Amino acid sequence: MAPFHRRKKPPDGKPPGWYKGCLRIDFECRCAYCLIHERDYQTHESFQIDHFKPRSRFPELERTYSNLYYSCQLCNKRNRKGDHWPTQAEISAGSRFVDPCAEDWEEHIAFQRTGQVEPVTKAGQYSITTLELNRPQLVKYRLKNPAEYGARSLLHKIGGQLNRIAKLASQTQQNELITRVRQLWETLRGIRKQVEKKWNEKRPTYPSPVCPY
Ligand SMILES: [Zn+2]
Repeated sequence: MAPFHRRKKPPDGKPPGWYKGCLRIDFECRCAYCLIHERDYQTHESFQIDHFKPRSRFPELERTYSNLYYSCQLCNKRNRKGDHWPTQAEISAGSRFVDPCAEDWEEHIAFQRTGQVEPVTKAGQYSITTLELNRPQLVKYRLKNPAEYGARSLLHKIGGQLNRIAKLASQTQQNELITRVRQLWETLRGIRKQVEKKWNEKRPTYPSPVCPY
């Protein structure tokens, strides 16, 4: 289960800053990479708009909403996500960023009880190393919120299993099973929404993001 599921569909072509409200909703006010909530960061002013595929390499995607990711300033630093993008040779070897909008996180990165994250794949390794996802502040943050990270890990695992069942069902053309898996997916999304709501209740109140689309 990808950590983020885009629901907003604003038109492409606007300056990146124009999309901040929509991104805050689609990324549930969290950093796409370290998952920290902006309220735990104490301000959304420090959150930035990252170009998943960097502008320097993919200028044609500069104003494409699906290429814009909500990121805390520490993950988006020049020496972390910044303009980084793997070379063709690295991509061929499996080293690349895990896409938090499209990929099952748990297939690549595993949360540990120690508050650290460990790589499951080369893509997970590339992401953890480049983004420094085991930096001390993040480990401390995860340890302060063990229930949240434990539940998140579990929800990702269930999502991952559902993905595998859906894939098998699709290969064997079991339409009834595909429909049931889709229903389970919707239920899981509902549970996640409720759990997120509960977690966010503990956080200080903050202006709600606005996006007309
Ligand atoms: Zn971050």
